[in-house]
Amino acid sequence: MARDTGPQCKQCRREGQKLFLKGERCLTDKCGVERRSYPPGEHGRGRLKQSEYRVQLREKQKARRYYGVLERQFHGYYVKASRQPGITGENLLALLECRLDNVLVRLGFAASRRQGRQLIRHGHWTVNGRRVDIPSYQVRPGDVIAIKAETPATRVVRDATELTGQIPAWLQADHESLTAKVLRKPERREVAAPVQEQLIVELYSK
Ligand code: SF4
Repeated sequence: MARDTGPQCKQCRREGQKLFLKGERCLTDKCGVERRSYPPGEHGRGRLKQSEYRVQLREKQKARRYYGVLERQFHGYYVKASRQPGITGENLLALLECRLDNVLVRLGFAASRRQGRQLIRHGHWTVNGRRVDIPSYQVRPGDVIAIKAETPATRVVRDATELTGQIPAWLQADHESLTAKVLRKPERREVAAPVQEQLIVELYSK
């Protein structure tokens, strides 16, 4: 499965804000945005022409980078969201939010989506007792997420739990046993992504 392996701090600098892609480092003064608060590249400090299209495009790129999803898969989420009942933008964010790699971050079991993704790919997590090694796995209400017994990743996961902020109300985590439960689908106000989803919908609806 293809994945984005590019430099992450450049992605934040391109979007002009911290996307917290690197876990603990993002909280230190080594943060790329703190050190160089202008876009990367030769013309990074030049004046940018703003247009409606550019604003929409940047919003989509920001969402993609925040969740670590490549273009094709992101567009697939949009298509799926637009076929669901309700507001397309909110459906899109809910689909992204329910990815297993993102859920591990929200639960405090991974310091970043990239780390969560690696832990999943290496088979350290189970959902409802079955090993799941697909980072894009969509969690559903009632799912029970647990670390595999006696896995060497336990230490890394415990370190990540120490960085945890507040766990969203749609999830329930036990940091002692490293297990969690999905209580329900996330509501828009519970999705902490710095994204204006309406702009993404406008971009794709052109
Ligand atoms: Fe973004 Fe984190 Fe790098 Fe700062 S340290 S630029 S928040 S990835």
